[in-house]
Amino acid sequence: MRQSGWSRTDCWQGQFSENLQEDVLISELLYEIGLQMRNPDSARMWEILACPSCNHDLKKTENGAVCIECQSEYDYSASGALDLRLKNRKSYSLEFELITPPFPKSEFDFKLLNEIKKPEVDFSGISVPFHLTRELLSNFPKAKGEGSFMLDLGCGNTIHREICELAGFEYIGLDYHSPQATFMGDAHSLPFKNESFEFILSIAVLEHVRFPFIMMREAFRVLKRKGKFVGTVSFLEPFHGDSFYHHTHFGVHYSLKFGGFKVEKISPNKKWSALRAQAAMGLFPKMPHFLSASLVLPLQMLSVLWWKMGNYLNPPKTEIDRLYRTAGSFSFIATKE
Ligand SMILES: [Zn+2]
Repeated sequence: MRQSGWSRTDCWQGQFSENLQEDVLISELLYEIGLQMRNPDSARMWEILACPSCNHDLKKTENGAVCIECQSEYDYSASGALDLRLKNRKSYSLEFELITPPFPKSEFDFKLLNEIKKPEVDFSGISVPFHLTRELLSNFPKAKGEGSFMLDLGCGNTIHREICELAGFEYIGLDYHSPQATFMGDAHSLPFKNESFEFILSIAVLEHVRFPFIMMREAFRVLKRKGKFVGTVSFLEPFHGDSFYHHTHFGVHYSLKFGGFKVEKISPNKKWSALRAQAAMGLFPKMPHFLSASLVLPLQMLSVLWWKMGNYLNPPKTEIDRLYRTAGSFSFIATKE
């Protein structure tokens, strides 16, 4: 069933002209315009779509799509996004190697993310979208060619579309719930062919995924070789929405490595402290951010001072040690070799 009330038959019943043939032509045209308005997916996007159940090709149908292998049918949602969430039960096997020794801190150089002086994309003059930082933006890749796809994994209301398009990418937003997404889908079972994207962005999503290791494997699968994966994840933010697994920096590292990625950088978001996050999201929800931030500011300053004294008396402790214990969230950058 078509989700919208506008069907081909409805159009044929419209009284646009005395002439029946003209009538049909106009109504056909309106039908196509309606389809285009409701369905933001382009012909090129169809080339990278795959059945979320079995990963085989999808065939376009009147109401949406059908898998050429398992015959699962996918309809357009009311918002116009093709709904590619799983229709059937699916099992996913993961193997864990228990002999692997625990991850040692010395294996990875955890450093604060700095703004790259000569970034691939010049975002100067652009205001930084919510959840992002100048430092993270300076690490965005530039599209290698025209029509390079990027995936905003867990796109929400697609606030990152503009910056991704500025970087030259053709934007695809996937979300389980948001009606603004290009496609509705599940991070555990991405409806895309292997190696479809040059760039994946996933902002404040990982903590909302029930099985983060599976999401990492899926992100790795759909990313092209030499592609970049940029994201953020909750650490000391309070439970929110439907968050499951908040990550420490070790946790982020392990999740990415398990997915198959080469970890480039993991950094605490220094302007988003646990105290600020708790104030804004847990202690004083809905209070303007500047106000909730000012309420915890004295405690924050006292803590910084305390750590500075500690660093002076016990030099091995550093500013980054403080941030890794007190950050509200982490940013990460990873690549596929
Ligand atoms: Zn299928």
